[in-house]
Amino acid sequence: MQHLQEPSFRQSVDIMFNRAAALLDLAPGLEEKIRVCNSTYVVRFGVRLRGQIHTFTGYRSVHSEHLEPVKGGIRYALAVNQDEVEALAALMSYKCALVEAPFGGSKGGLCIDPRQYDEEELERITRRFAFELIKRDLINPSQNVPAPDMGTSEREMAWIADQYHRMSTTDINGRACVTGKPINAGGIAGRVEATGRGIQYAMREFFRHPEDVARAHLDGTLDGKRIILQGLGNVGYHAARFLEEEDGCRIIGIIERDGAIIDENGLPVERVKAHLNETGGVRGFPGAEYTADGMSVLAHECDILIPAALEGVINMSNAHAIQAPLIVEAANGPITAAADEILRGKGTVIIPDLYANAGGVTVSYFEWVKNLSHIRFGRMQRRQEEARHQLIVDELEKLSADKGLGWTLSPDFKEKYLRGAGELELVRSGLDDTMRAAYQSMREVWHGRDDVHDLRIAGYIVAIQRIASSYRALGL
Ligand code: NAD
Repeated sequence: MQHLQEPSFRQSVDIMFNRAAALLDLAPGLEEKIRVCNSTYVVRFGVRLRGQIHTFTGYRSVHSEHLEPVKGGIRYALAVNQDEVEALAALMSYKCALVEAPFGGSKGGLCIDPRQYDEEELERITRRFAFELIKRDLINPSQNVPAPDMGTSEREMAWIADQYHRMSTTDINGRACVTGKPINAGGIAGRVEATGRGIQYAMREFFRHPEDVARAHLDGTLDGKRIILQGLGNVGYHAARFLEEEDGCRIIGIIERDGAIIDENGLPVERVKAHLNETGGVRGFPGAEYTADGMSVLAHECDILIPAALEGVINMSNAHAIQAPLIVEAANGPITAAADEILRGKGTVIIPDLYANAGGVTVSYFEWVKNLSHIRFGRMQRRQEEARHQLIVDELEKLSADKGLGWTLSPDFKEKYLRGAGELELVRSGLDDTMRAAYQSMREVWHGRDDVHDLRIAGYIVAIQRIASSYRALGL
């Protein structure tokens, strides 16, 4: 049955949840308990800027506290509202459960267009917002840990961490109050690009299964696949760059706020990003075809469509026209529940948001653990690992010389084998493992149950079962 009206973002998340929950045998009342958002705090605060007081509205929603702390980004955008923040908080609960990050779900937002303020003004606004949340324990290493999202970055996270430190000077674990910080403020290697890296690992894992690739009417590997991307921000830029540079994909279209550019031969992601940073848009990028109607490019023919900007962009108005056989939801909620139904009807395969963009929270989890353990990953083991590898190489070379075997180890092999894993290598390894394991858990449900026909519902089923067992363990 198709919906007559476009569902809101929160309704969309609930509809998808309900579809999955209907296939599970949950204890009476538990379904409702998991679905509802536990609380939303709304704050209005004033900041004196440019000679007058400006009032801002901010939110922090806690969807589920089956595990604490709860976790979820803080978004800066004019369109932020309660419905959106609650939808994003719910998605965080399901996402954390799916990738086994031991957190409940939360999300925050501030109604602001950050491009309208200079750095000093943004710092004052951020510190004031953080103050309001910290004093209510809505930012706290053991209760509620934010991270970056649309419109925020490591800069804002550093201000938040510092604000927490000013207000809780004796909290030895204070740095764990927020993730996505710069390295010199307690961050972790690989966090900035983690969500984009996670998209790449998710796609690689999907393409390791020819049977799954065939369901999307595609074949082969990622090499040569033609991609259209919406949103060249933190998530979209890193995902596109890695896919272009390391997997041989061709980014044939990029959609931004001011329109879209197309080049069948492939757009150089790094140079488009530089142009975007310089001019504020993609218009005028040399050598590419430009169209002001960026949204229409979502429906262009391509192998893979990656919406990486904002929610609801694929909806009842354009879902029928989408030609991509595979969609990777790098953004949260880019496909409404109504569009999801239309696309499923057409046989489009969707790698869902709760899985595809979980790389950010996964590496945030590693950062939080690093902050609590007060030591950089790899610091104790790296040189010891190198020394043990050196022993083997020396022994092999000695054997070869003693026996006159003439073996030689290539310098390239030796260089790679002898290098112990530093923090970045460990973070990547942990992220790759997480993305592979989460895909396997979804895949088992997708292929193993006759009543499950898509990865999204499979992902929700895995997540809901895990949250339900946490609640059972709590005696609920
Ligand atoms: P960002 O602010 O860094 O980038 C967003 C990009 O989208 C910008 O380049 C912006 O110009 C562009 N954009 C905005 N409106 C657009 C429009 N109407 N059409 C085309 N482009 C538009 O944000 P981000 O952190 O990359 O987040 C993007 C999405 O990914 C969001 O849905 C967010 O919730 C999700 N996400 C982010 C993270 C993270 O770690 N940052 C983690 C998980 C999910």
